[in-house]
Amino acid sequence: MNENTAQQLFQDYRRVWTREYVTNEMPNQLTFLPGGQLDGGAAPNFVYLTHGALQCSNSVTSFAIAHEMSHVVTLQWLQRHGLVKPPVAGKYDYFWGEYVADLIAFHLIYTFFRVKAHVIKIEFPSLAHELGTADNTHPDGGKRVNMLQSYSEQVTSGENPWNAMLSIGRSLCTTGFFSNQ
Ligand SMILES: [Zn+2]
Repeated sequence: MNENTAQQLFQDYRRVWTREYVTNEMPNQLTFLPGGQLDGGAAPNFVYLTHGALQCSNSVTSFAIAHEMSHVVTLQWLQRHGLVKPPVAGKYDYFWGEYVADLIAFHLIYTFFRVKAHVIKIEFPSLAHELGTADNTHPDGGKRVNMLQSYSEQVTSGENPWNAMLSIGRSLCTTGFFSNQ
């Protein structure tokens, strides 16, 4: 995906993310930084992807953009759904943020960009591979994709997307979720 396409996608997502989760911390633009690996990051009014992230398949890149944007609205997500961050510390604190960003990202893509969600779903194995194995801040890619698979199975079997997102979100907000990480 070239930078212009990624920027356009960011703008399309931005309209949805800022409508769903009212925030004044979403930047106006996606920033591109040097780096050959798939990577990205987010802070208030700053969302970036590496050039390496643009080299992945379109669906992985589009998921990465949505994931980083979702970090920006995590607190708003908690508030909107009446959830409380679980008392987890150390690497699980980071893991929690990663799972929540994945969940927000896939739910909004599924709800508002359904065709993209179906392509991401087809490419779940390659997404898991690109996300890699667990490190000190990121859970295992396979486990992250398993959570998205669970969401996908729920909505495919007729569950309302909002309810699927909330039920998984609630489980993420229990400390028990992390006992198998
Ligand atoms: Zn992240």
